[in-house]
Amino acid sequence: MNKLSRRKIIRQLTLGGAALFYSPHSLFSAGSGKERLGVALVGLGYYSTDLLAPALQQTKHCYLAGIVTGTPSKAELWKTKYKIPDRNIYNYQNFDQIANNPDIDIVYVVLPPSMHREYVIRAAGAGKHIWCEKPMAMTEMECTQMIDACKKNKRSLAIGYRLHHEPHTIEYRRIVHQQLLGKVQKLNCAAGYYDNRTNHWKQNKALGGGVLYDMGVYAIQGARLGTGMEPLSILSAKTSTTRPQVYKNGLDETTIATLEFPGGVMADIKTSFGENINFLDITCEKGSINMAPYSGYAGLKGRSPLGEIYYPYEVPWQQARQMDDDAMSIKQGRPMLVPGEEGLRDIRIVEAIYRSASTGKAVKL
Ligand code: NAD
Repeated sequence: MNKLSRRKIIRQLTLGGAALFYSPHSLFSAGSGKERLGVALVGLGYYSTDLLAPALQQTKHCYLAGIVTGTPSKAELWKTKYKIPDRNIYNYQNFDQIANNPDIDIVYVVLPPSMHREYVIRAAGAGKHIWCEKPMAMTEMECTQMIDACKKNKRSLAIGYRLHHEPHTIEYRRIVHQQLLGKVQKLNCAAGYYDNRTNHWKQNKALGGGVLYDMGVYAIQGARLGTGMEPLSILSAKTSTTRPQVYKNGLDETTIATLEFPGGVMADIKTSFGENINFLDITCEKGSINMAPYSGYAGLKGRSPLGEIYYPYEVPWQQARQMDDDAMSIKQGRPMLVPGEEGLRDIRIVEAIYRSASTGKAVKL
């Protein structure tokens, strides 16, 4: 298959999949008539620096218009590298003045999870549309507050689940949704990598650390999207660590859980900061869909009795695709493909898994 037709297929799949899974959710257009919406990144750490800013050089419906950082040296660096005018550079203290800046249409919160709620609510108060990184927040209550703030201010809220926008995910969901291999019988999913850091926010519970919040939401997404259903309960869960000097005070390095779905479908999930694991196996009546890796930035691939699932692209295509999809939805006053409610569903499950692990009992959802 030549490059052009493959690109065309990716595009059709992405748009087709997006149409299939839009949730009914009122939406608010940017109303500015701008061709490209201005995005301000809040938090210039790894994900903003290595993925989102480069992706915003490729996007067609949005561009990197501003930054919010607490580090003056980063502000200088980004200002020069991306030609960001001084008027579009904020710190955490003067952030709320962004309300008066017509260059910024969207605020993208890329901070440690414990800070998501505050910055989403402040951005909504400033009248900006909001994109927020996963995990959406620390608790279901925080997620609800964020959703409410965006509704109250009539602003869109999208969660940075890039996989909803990409073709491998869209394709396995299509096979499941259309029951091309019959009904799903069971599922097995794992997401993890070896994190050799000892003092990052991922190892700090108060800042949003713990593997279940971080990589665990990918495994939960794998189970939910791969079955096409919502779990009824957490049958069992267990957290553990092989590095107690790093993962202490109940912080999980590895978590396993069994989720029960309607029809007696069970999903075993595993997530870890202690090993490199990444696969999604969906067993259906007429064969299995095997994706590995299923959640990286590129190089995803899979197979089922229907054939190969393979749509090559390069980093940071996923992030550009996600931001263009979401910018286009805002421009056209359409619902977000991944609204706040989708982030909330996972946080509810995260909390239930932790509860099951600490009590040793099943937890109903
Ligand atoms: P990071 O540690 O590299 O960056 C975090 C940024 O927040 C830094 O710039 C840091 O200076 C800033 N910050 C402000 N206040 C802070 C505080 N009190 N403590 C620590 N940092 C503070 O983290 P990251 O990997 O860029 O992750 C940021 C967010 O992006 C997280 O929610 C993470 O889950 C998400 N993320 C998503 C993906 C994805 O594929 N969607 C990938 C990586 C990260």
